Amino acid sequence: FLRERNILSVRSFMLLFLSCIFNLGFPGTPSSLKTLPLDGHLCFDKIHHAARDFGNRYQFLPLAVLHPRSVSDVATTIKHIWQMGPSSELTVAARGHAHSLQGQAQAHRGVVINMESFSGMKMQVYIGKHPYVDVYGGELWINILHESLKHGLAPKSWTDYLHLTVGGTLSNAGISGQAFRHGPQISNVHQLEVVTGKGEVVNCSEKQNADLFHGVLGGLGQFGIITRARISLEPAPKMVKWIRVLYSDFSAFVRDQEHLIYAENTFDYIEGFVIINRTGLLNNWRSSFNPQDPVQANQFQSDGRTLYCLELAKNINPEKVDIIYKEIENLLSQLRYISSTLFVSEVSYVEFLDRVHVSEIKLRSKGLWEVPHPWLNLLVPRSKIHNFAEEVFGNILTDTSNGPVLVYPVNKSKWDNRTSVVLPDEDIFYLVAFLSSAVPSSSGTDGLEHILTQNKRILDFCEAAHLGVKQYLPHYTTQKAWRAHFGPRWEVFVQRKSAYDPLAILSPGHQIFQKAI
Ligand code: FAD
Repeated sequence: FLRERNILSVRSFMLLFLSCIFNLGFPGTPSSLKTLPLDGHLCFDKIHHAARDFGNRYQFLPLAVLHPRSVSDVATTIKHIWQMGPSSELTVAARGHAHSLQGQAQAHRGVVINMESFSGMKMQVYIGKHPYVDVYGGELWINILHESLKHGLAPKSWTDYLHLTVGGTLSNAGISGQAFRHGPQISNVHQLEVVTGKGEVVNCSEKQNADLFHGVLGGLGQFGIITRARISLEPAPKMVKWIRVLYSDFSAFVRDQEHLIYAENTFDYIEGFVIINRTGLLNNWRSSFNPQDPVQANQFQSDGRTLYCLELAKNINPEKVDIIYKEIENLLSQLRYISSTLFVSEVSYVEFLDRVHVSEIKLRSKGLWEVPHPWLNLLVPRSKIHNFAEEVFGNILTDTSNGPVLVYPVNKSKWDNRTSVVLPDEDIFYLVAFLSSAVPSSSGTDGLEHILTQNKRILDFCEAAHLGVKQYLPHYTTQKAWRAHFGPRWEVFVQRKSAYDPLAILSPGHQIFQKAI
């Protein structure tokens, strides 16, 4: 991770000199960007893609897109903008795979850094008692999986979808069905290399520059751009037993989920989702699950009832197959699902982890991937999950969900409270994710307006009922709302901002801070 920072100041001086001599644009004007000495390049046209994201609702056109080929490209660009001072309006957003929902990876009239330009640069896997992999911030998790599997290893904690970058998920948390065991992805990082809002390249970890390390994790890109990360690995299984069982009773569903996250020899992955109306591809896009007994699965009739599906997976170690099957049997015997609804499948580890990509391909082929995604992700305290479900699944989402609705518990003990991520105030909380897709130009119940109204009803209910819910992948448009989101942690967040990005150059798309105020 070592950087020669002096190169940067020499470069900056050269730049100043050249821009004055050749009148290439005074430092302090955006055109001066054109003179930056870079290994990669800055693009001033063909930049429209950088004004789009997965949410497909917000579009802010940048001034330029940087395609870096080195960490010093990122540092040079940011340092240049930092040196322009507060009079310049230029901001910088790191763009990972742009799977943000509301323009978080965009920079209106600023510079977007295309972090995936790093992709393909060499990852390094270290084998030993505590294996890890060093990767670039723009690396996709799917590539890390393939690379580490060559050594029989894999990261411990995932997201449900792997075509996301390391920097993008570490800026939020990275939560999936392994989080109850290993914590989120931000609990499984040893070290980061970060370029701050002053253009400084800093290595940080628990032991070195710890405040920056913790600040950046879950820090919504506010304190620095992650250029490298050291990710913890574990031995990877080859195959996975993938199981789904159904409940009609929400209480039994969550009771079993909570039982399993603490059970002995428990599953390696525990999630769950709500089935409100089993119709339509958009509604079921996450289901690449093919049970071994499809006839039985098809025979099950929901009769229009809202059902709750517990989704489980257990890694299969070939040397202990019999023991693992017994453990699965034993665990299932402790659960209270509808007895005719045990659906089992056995797939490779890659197939299991990359399951959402199968659905992506399906949806893309039908033109249904690039539609508006008014997603809402909430963290609901355990003590309030029943009130929440009663109102939301009983009164608000009754006809259809317009997409998958995930519900699963995680335990706070696996999270580090020094990171920037904001959590509910209880030991166990539920991730509840409304992953809606809107049918373009529909004014019906599958249209954007209807879904946004439903989301608002859910949020209004949570607030009125004082449920202590926090947004995950949070979106607010005023600083007052951000303050409320952070609560007592707001002061630390502001202190970190003034230490690492005092001009508020970084990550303007979140609308937390405005440049130079
Ligand atoms: P981008 O959208 O490009 O960026 C997100 C934010 O991070 C922006 O503010 C950006 O400026 C900042 N950023 C990007 N790269 C860096 C960097 N290198 N350094 C600093 N800041 C950076 N999340 C989960 O936790 N669990 C899931 O199971 C899950 N499933 C998902 C499934 C799908 C289909 C989608 C679309 C999203 C899912 N997400 C999930 C959400 C996802 O983790 C976030 O949206 C994440 O930010 C996307 O990563 P990205 O690379 O696309 O980031």
